[in-house]
Amino acid sequence: MTGVVSRVFLASRNAKKLAEMQRILAEQAPEVVVVGLDDVPAYDEPVEDEPDFQGNALLKARAGLAATGLPSLADDSGLCVDALNGMPGVLSARWSGPPGADRQRADDRNNALLLHQLADVPDERRSAHFVCAVAFCHPDGTELVVHGRMDGRVLHEVRGSGGFGYDVLFAADGHQVTTAELDADAKDAISHRGKALREIAPQVAAALGAG
Ligand code: IMP
Repeated sequence: MTGVVSRVFLASRNAKKLAEMQRILAEQAPEVVVVGLDDVPAYDEPVEDEPDFQGNALLKARAGLAATGLPSLADDSGLCVDALNGMPGVLSARWSGPPGADRQRADDRNNALLLHQLADVPDERRSAHFVCAVAFCHPDGTELVVHGRMDGRVLHEVRGSGGFGYDVLFAADGHQVTTAELDADAKDAISHRGKALREIAPQVAAALGAG
């Protein structure tokens, strides 16, 4: 079936996260055409109230499939800080309050809160990791979930202008710069989202008959 173009719906309102996912998928499964929320009629998006990343990713992918009838992908991700017992975790996007339409403002607020919470925490206890769960739901009933993880630490001040969210405060293990200072390909190569999507992309392509 090589060369067959197949569509997959990608349920995300976060434009920068969506761009990362489209970029990684385009590289891994170029035959798969990604359709976004703006390409389908509006529907009631689910409240992300599951206790873990996997649950929320499945919730979003199932809702996408139910609303569009298309095979659907969704990501749920966040930052887990050891000194904060894993917080903000699944609350990462809305840690400092509802994110609203202005994502940059919400990111800035979340980063200020993170710096405040870790103000007295020394370097050796600033370890953290990003987690990403990616779920895929197919009309034939197939459901897949994969996970990716990136370990690192939280710095003391924001640096860089790439990426999104907590990237400006996070340096991955083995790196002196933040993930906001890496170029897009370098972040994708080590990121939680890059790892998860590279694992699931061949399975998605196969399920769509495009592999
Ligand atoms: P979600 O849309 O509920 O999955 O929220 C994910 C949130 O986790 C984002 O709004 C960011 O705050 C954070 N996050 C997830 N992945 C990343 C990343 O790659 N870089 C920086 N922040 C991230």
